[in-house]
Amino acid sequence: MPEVLAYACDDKTAQFHPTTITRREPGPTEVYFDIVYAGICHSDIHTARGEWGSVLYPLVPGHELAGVVRQVGSEVTRFAVGDHVGVGCFVDSCGHCPECERGEEQFCSGEGGTIWTYNCVGRDGVPTAGGYSQGITVEQDYVCRIPDAIDLKVAAPLMCAGITLYSPLKRWGAGPGKRVAIVGMGGLGHVGVQIASALGAEVAVISHTRSKEADGRRFGAVEFHALSEPGTLKRLAKSFDLIVSTVSADSDLDALLGCLKVGGVLVDVGLPEHPTTFRLGSLVGTNRVLAGSNIGGIPQTQEMLDFCAEHGIAPQVEVISGDDITAAYDRVVNSQVRYRYVIDTATFAR
Ligand code: NAP
Ligand code: ZN
Repeated sequence: MPEVLAYACDDKTAQFHPTTITRREPGPTEVYFDIVYAGICHSDIHTARGEWGSVLYPLVPGHELAGVVRQVGSEVTRFAVGDHVGVGCFVDSCGHCPECERGEEQFCSGEGGTIWTYNCVGRDGVPTAGGYSQGITVEQDYVCRIPDAIDLKVAAPLMCAGITLYSPLKRWGAGPGKRVAIVGMGGLGHVGVQIASALGAEVAVISHTRSKEADGRRFGAVEFHALSEPGTLKRLAKSFDLIVSTVSADSDLDALLGCLKVGGVLVDVGLPEHPTTFRLGSLVGTNRVLAGSNIGGIPQTQEMLDFCAEHGIAPQVEVISGDDITAAYDRVVNSQVRYRYVIDTATFAR
């Protein structure tokens, strides 16, 4: 059984320390790959800090994995040793319920449901452990191919941040002639600006302050708005066809809904700790839609990777070591990261 180095935390204080975990030998249809880089998603932080409920400690988070295949099972057809691959938020599902058949394995309604990459129990009865580790064994159907044009360190964040923005932008028709606003330009948001712009939409960023304006325009935004400037959302009344909010803290949904044109759509992908409310009148009076969106399935994740390769879309990353993870969490929460921390697992030492 492969033993790998990892970083774990033991309680809600989310203090990370080196550890060793055991991965299973790949079965006939499984691949084992060396994780080279793992992104830090804000969801890792919500989970590790207990903001979303119960946690299986010790916790090895990480659902933005990119690496190189080291071993394949005897019946693996889709991958070979040396291939560049990625894994996102889930590592297994039933494979034959209506949702899995549709390629939306994140909504698996079959026995056992979706098996999340960490903070879950796998079909082998062992708690899952995520990407803050040097290797993982996964069923080949839950692994994506990373195109040669995408460097592994920028591929990692695409496995969650990329698909989480690509999916609603596609579903709700971001494209030529559409005015699209991305609220919160963090890990998810900065990839969303690039994807929406590549899809041909006219993109605006709505951020706390103007500190990220130059970057936002470099990522493809043609407008940049700061919530810190009084009256910003009032000025933007009835401006957008589509708004995607990635804000990780409480936000004023009524004010954001007011920025939609008649019949416009606000998709919220952020999951703050506390419940957020809104007035039904903000929807009913103008046929507006408030929607959620949860990552994306494997076929669409592969489509997103190929789209990013074709359009030169690349998350902007800061590479850190295992010992930096604890401090990195605070910097993410304070919006100081530009724009995704990616852990280099070669820095892990016994
Ligand atoms: P992140 O890098 O921390 O970015 C969140 C951004 O939200 C920040 O950069 C900031 O943008 C804005 N923000 C943060 N606190 C704010 C506040 N108090 N008021 C206004 N704006 C604030 O986080 P992320 O990794 O992109 O994740 C964002 C959220 O999406 C998290 O809640 C995460 O759990 C969730 N998520 C959901 C899915 C899904 O499938 N639905 C997938 C992944 C993550 P500015 O600096 O531009 O203001
Ligand atoms: Zn994530």
